[in-house]
Amino acid sequence: MDEFHKLIAFLVDRREAKWYEIFMGEITLLDEMKTDVPKKVKGGGEREEARRMERHVDAAVHDHYKKAAQKTFDIFKKNGFHGFVLGCPENLVGEIEPVLHPYVRERLKGWLRAKPSDSPDGILKEVISLERALKTSEEEGLIKKLAGELEKGGRACSGLKESLRALNQGEVQTLIVSRHFAAPGKYCPRCRLLYTEGELKCPSCERKTSAVMDVVDEAIEAAMGRDGAVKHITPPSKLEHYGSIAALLRYKP
Ligand SMILES: [Zn+2]
Repeated sequence: MDEFHKLIAFLVDRREAKWYEIFMGEITLLDEMKTDVPKKVKGGGEREEARRMERHVDAAVHDHYKKAAQKTFDIFKKNGFHGFVLGCPENLVGEIEPVLHPYVRERLKGWLRAKPSDSPDGILKEVISLERALKTSEEEGLIKKLAGELEKGGRACSGLKESLRALNQGEVQTLIVSRHFAAPGKYCPRCRLLYTEGELKCPSCERKTSAVMDVVDEAIEAAMGRDGAVKHITPPSKLEHYGSIAALLRYKP
C-alpha cells in the first residue's frame, strides 16, 4: 500500500457505526450512525415468546449492518478512496462482510479488533501498524516469488545490467527496486535505450551513448511507461543480494 493512499476506517458493532478518513497520518471523522436496536431480554417469559423476541432483535441488528454497509458504499462513491479497513469485534466479521457491496468488499485491506467507541488516536495507530504489516508481507511475497524464479531459471532476471537489458527488450512485467537505490549509467539518445556505465556505444545503433546521473530512476520511468509495474522494497532485504534491482519477466529469457 502506498503511503499516499486515502483509506476509510469503517467501525461497526451491533448498534453503532463510524467512518473515519485516514490520510497522510491523520484521522478525521466522516460520519456516524446509531440504530435503536432493542435489547435482548434474558430469561423469563414463555420460551416461544423469548425466541420470537430474539429473532426480532437479530433482524434489527442485521438491518443495522445493511444500512451501515450501504453508507460505506455511498462514502466510497463520494470520495476518492483506495481502500478501507473494517473494525469490529471478531465474531461479527462473518455477519458484516456478506452485506458489503461487492465494490466495497474488493477494497477491504484488513480487519482491526476495534469498536466505534474507541478513540480516534487508538484507531489511527492500529491502522498504521496494519498497513505496515500488509506492506511487509506483500514485499516478502514478491521477493520469494523472485527468488523462486531466479533459482529455477524461470521468468526473472537480476542485477542492473540484466534488468536494463530486459527493460530495453520490453520483457519486464514487474521491476523490483530497493528503495533509494541509485546508480549512474548511459542511454542512447536515438533509441532511448538504457545501459550501465561501461556501454560507450549503443549496441543497437552504434551511436555514442550519453551519461545519465541515475539510470535506476530512468529505468523506473521506462518500466511504468511500458505498462510494467514497479515495486519498491524497503531495505534491508534479500534484494540487495541480487544487486538491489531485479525484474519479473513476461517471457522466459
Ligand atoms: Zn541506439
